[in-house]
Amino acid sequence: MRNLPDTIRIGGIEVLVLSDGVFRLDGGSMFGIVPRPLWEAERGTDEEGRVTLACNCFLILAGKTKILVDSGIGRKFDEKRRRIYALDGRTLPEELAAAGFSPRDVDFVVNTHLHMDHAGWNASPGGGDSGGLVPTFPNARYVVERRELYAAGHPTELNRRTYLPENWVPVANAGLFLVYDWKLDIVPGVTVFRTGGHTPGHACVMIRDGGRTAVAAGDLLPTSSHRRVPWATAYDMFPVETMDARRWLLREAARKRWLLLCDHEPEFKAFYLKEGAIPDRYEVEAARD
Ligand SMILES: [Zn+2]
Repeated sequence: MRNLPDTIRIGGIEVLVLSDGVFRLDGGSMFGIVPRPLWEAERGTDEEGRVTLACNCFLILAGKTKILVDSGIGRKFDEKRRRIYALDGRTLPEELAAAGFSPRDVDFVVNTHLHMDHAGWNASPGGGDSGGLVPTFPNARYVVERRELYAAGHPTELNRRTYLPENWVPVANAGLFLVYDWKLDIVPGVTVFRTGGHTPGHACVMIRDGGRTAVAAGDLLPTSSHRRVPWATAYDMFPVETMDARRWLLREAARKRWLLLCDHEPEFKAFYLKEGAIPDRYEVEAARD
């Protein structure tokens, strides 16, 4: 097991790739309308038809400001759910500590969206007699798009089991949400912008410095396999919107050599795309730096 997180440099900005372990999810839910033989050949499955997914989080070090993009799946699960998701591996707080940071050091937590596997460490048990949940990052503002917070508070049958109140209500009660519309420059070189599609307020984070660009794509591009435009997950609330936003991101990334940071990719956590002869078909090129 590695001890230190991987580091990516975007000009003068450093991005640490932190893991919150791995989990398994039904392959059909990850690949929506795509026939199983197509995704299974690439991702493989266990005996229950589940694919293995990483929970990658990204700690952006921009000058003195520390910005965490997504907070993993957390560990607020009972035994049954741990088994269902086959949770394994190191936790985000353990990885933060290995990098020399405490949760108190984080200035901003950006939730690309509030699904449970992106907001899992937003809050954790605070200890004390009440045993109540408190924000894990007490000195951070939690950055979320207005439509996303509304959607989490008004779940539907499609997302009730992933918009868990325990991941956002303690943050709201502590008054730590920094709610924005469409787009927010957090610090020079780090911008969060709404894409929609997967959820009403789904957002990506663009990191830009020294002529280089990286995009933390959240669930607009959960794994490298989702580089095919129609491969939307079954959880996508607005799949056509996902396809539009993804088509744009893939084209820009391939043509301008943007580094893509991937939340659920166990192998290529960061990669480039190469355009082929056929429009909207891409090859993955692993990042070496
Ligand atoms: Zn999601």
